[in-house]
Amino acid sequence: SRDFRVVVLGSAGVGKSALVQRWVRGNFREAYLPTIEDTYRQALGCSHKAGALHITDTTGGRRYRGLQRLAIARGHAFILVYSVTKKQTLEELKPLYELIRQLKGNNPQKCPIILVGNKCDESHREVSEKEGAAYASEWNCAFLETSAKMNINVQELFQMLINFEKKPAAAT
Ligand code: GDP
Ligand code: MG
Repeated sequence: SRDFRVVVLGSAGVGKSALVQRWVRGNFREAYLPTIEDTYRQALGCSHKAGALHITDTTGGRRYRGLQRLAIARGHAFILVYSVTKKQTLEELKPLYELIRQLKGNNPQKCPIILVGNKCDESHREVSEKEGAAYASEWNCAFLETSAKMNINVQELFQMLINFEKKPAAAT
């Protein structure tokens, strides 16, 4: 099959599940429901006969490092999510970024990563857009600020992934 597996990673509470829910179901919940691991399957457009976009929504918890590692090993593209309201959540992405590079190699064409600063609707910020963009350029990856709550850049984020999937180099 031509399935394309996207893995969503980041600390607890940054809005990983909210982003996936927003895109898959079109809604938003204020309540926090801890995730262990959920997978979603979205059929891709008609140009992809049998393919689907698999989204693995992971947990940030230390107890689930094994699951995280397995999800990364099987992934084709990665969304690294932090919250612009909490600087620590950006710093916590570094070991995950390094694990992706370790398991998948250094070729950004073969293994696309999108750095996402979520909760950009919040007025209390600890991370500026400029600072997020600087991390992204250091890590050689794409960058977007999003809000699952206000539906900002969520379509753009997943469209970016679908575009990666269309490039043959990414489909290996
Ligand atoms: P996860 O642990 O990364 O999956 O985080 P969740 O998706 O469960 O979200 C954690 C909390 O942040 C919930 O209370 C959400 O309602 C809230 N949240 C998620 N996305 C946003 C957002 O874009 N803006 C704001 N203001 N809150 C958000
Ligand atoms: Mg979650």
